[in-house]
This record gives sequence, C-alpha cells and structure tokens, in this order.
Amino acid sequence: MQEQSAILEQGAIIGIVGGGQLGKMLALSALQLGFKVAIYCPDPDSPAFDVTPLKFIADYDDEKKLTEFASLVDIITYEFENLPTQSLKFLEKTKPVAPSSRILEIAQDRLKEKLFLASNDIAVAQYMKVETLSDLENAIKEITLPIVLKTTRMGYDGKGQRIIKTTQQIEQAFNELKGSTLIAEKFISFEREISIIVARTRRGQVRDYDASENIHENHILKTSTVPANIDNITRKRASRIAHEIIGSLDYIGVLGIEFFVVPNEPYAKLIVNEIAPRVHNSGHFTQAVCLTNQFEQHIRAIANWPLGDPTRLANVTMENLIGDEIIDAHKDLQSGTRPDFYGKKQVREGRKMGHLNHISFLSE
Ligand code: AMP
Repeated sequence: MQEQSAILEQGAIIGIVGGGQLGKMLALSALQLGFKVAIYCPDPDSPAFDVTPLKFIADYDDEKKLTEFASLVDIITYEFENLPTQSLKFLEKTKPVAPSSRILEIAQDRLKEKLFLASNDIAVAQYMKVETLSDLENAIKEITLPIVLKTTRMGYDGKGQRIIKTTQQIEQAFNELKGSTLIAEKFISFEREISIIVARTRRGQVRDYDASENIHENHILKTSTVPANIDNITRKRASRIAHEIIGSLDYIGVLGIEFFVVPNEPYAKLIVNEIAPRVHNSGHFTQAVCLTNQFEQHIRAIANWPLGDPTRLANVTMENLIGDEIIDAHKDLQSGTRPDFYGKKQVREGRKMGHLNHISFLSE
C-alpha cells in the first residue's frame, strides 16, 4: 500500500476502471502530466480505449484480468460508481485504489450515503428505508407526500425513481421498483440545483471550484452554468459543506456534491442530494475556463502532487449533447464555444455523446 506521503513519479502507470468519456478525459490529463494510462472496461467500443494502447477488456469480476491489470499499474482509480465494490477490494490487495472501496461502498448505496451525511450533521432530505409496501405506507405517514421513491443502488440519470404525489400512486410506484431495497425521500421543493466539485490529496490539501447551477431535462443533466445564481453567503456555505464532506470521508481525488437550494429566511437552505466519488459531468466547465480542470485535478490528487489552481477566468455554460444532438454539432460551432465530442460509436437516445462549453468573458 502507498504511504501517506508517497508521490507518484512521472512515467508511472495509472489504471482507470471504466472506459467512458470520464475515463477518456481523465486519461488525456494523465498523459499530459507525463503518466501512462491503462483502461479496464468490458465494452471494447469504449471511448477511453481511443487514447491508450494499454487495454483490458474484461468483465469487472474477472479476477484473472483484474490481477493482470493490478500488476501492470502503479495506482488505480475509477470513473463511475456502479462497479462491484468486491472488484475494488480485490484490486486494493495489490495496488492503492483512490478513492478507496470504503468510499465507493458509501456512495453507491443511497441509505449508507444519507446515514454518513446525516451523522456528520450535513442536511439531507428526510428519508426512510423501504422493503415492503407497508414500509412505504409507514414512511409516507412519517414523511408525508409528496415523496420520491428510489432504488438504493444502481440509480443514475433518474433511473430507478418514482415521484409519489397522491395515495393512488403508492402501489404502482412500489410495484415498479420493488425487488431491491428502496428509499423514500421527502420531495424537496427546491429553487435550484447546484453542485460543487472538490478535490483532496493524500496529504489533506483541499481545493474546490465555483458552484455550478444545473438544469436537468428528462432527468439527465442538460446544462451547468457558472456562476450559479446564488448569493455569496450560500456560495460560501456550499463550499464549506464540500470541505467538511471531503475531509470527513478522508477522501482522495475529485468528488462531486449535488445540492438542492431551498428558499429560506434569512438565507437559502442547502440540502445535499448526492455525492459522486469521481469527476462529475457538472464539472466539465472547468475544462474551458479554469486554470486547472477537474480531470487534471483528480490525477494530481491521486498522485499526491500539489493541487492546481481552480480559479475561473470566464463565465460559462456547459451544454450536454444527448443522443442525436451530436450528429451535426460540429457544423455550427460558434467562436467562444469549446467542443468535446466523446467519439462514441453508437448514438442512442438519452446517451451522453459530447458537450459544449459556451464561454462568455467576465467583462461582457
Ligand atoms: P438523483 O439520482 O438522486 O441525483 O436524482 C436525479 C434528479 O431527480 C435530481 O437532480 C433532482 O432533480 C430530482 N430529485 C431527486 N431527489 C429528489 C428529492 N428528494 N426532491 C426533489 N427532487 C429530487
């Protein structure tokens, strides 16, 4: 295992588990800093395979392939959270993994995540565990409608979620999601959604980026705008909460934290919706307008290098290109728009295919 103070030298091999666009952008930053990169992913068409010859194409629970991967690389990170924690634990026996499997275990289970946050005095939506229909009925008595019913695991982009507004909707929502442990959460009437991207090194250095304001369409992130339309006190409080969370997790790497902003007197209330133990879609704006982008920051953090300056030089809106929005996106690029196209072979409805950063300069 790596010492607290160990620094990853240039030329070392960083292993990335997961081969999506986040893996590709992480790999590009790692290469830029003089590292080599190996990608582990079951899908041979994964975009991250485009940027390195060191490819491991196998299922996440293939111990033989995991062993080969771990013996080649110097440190391991991952780019999405729906991985078996067992696989990370297996890898951890041979090489350092950052963020650790303990973090992944918390972040991939909504109940563990809420419990962790609440026990650290971070505000979360009122919630209850649901296994049976009568658990759900009891939860609704306690929390009161409307509620959001979610699977505790494997949910993303609104998958595995139902909003229950009336008693008539209870049974159907339960029947659609039953089969795994569920969580009933109070539906929060938020004014806006924001997120903070924060990074921490093995030595405990922490830097965060300006909050972005996020708009979802069909449960998928559509735009992130920076600066978010929040007052300075809310901004500072969100930043302080991000520092508290990353410190109490003893986290290494970049962490995404999503908040609901709820109107309240005298200041807005901040409720943490979710934490993502990786670089985050709402942090893609950093590529276009920050001195150090979130991908480089993650690589520096896991390598135990000094973190880069997160200062933002311009205002920006990041726009996700979803499904067939990618097809003609290169034909009408405006000056001041910076494209990132992921090179995915198949266009599918709801699939994130690329993003645009629309930059507006601070003086405009
Ligand atoms: P999640 O998968 O938990 O990030 O939820 C996806 C989106 O659903 C969030 O970004 C919100 O827009 C909405 N949502 C999730 N939980 C709640 C809640 N408790 N109250 C209101 N909206 C929610």
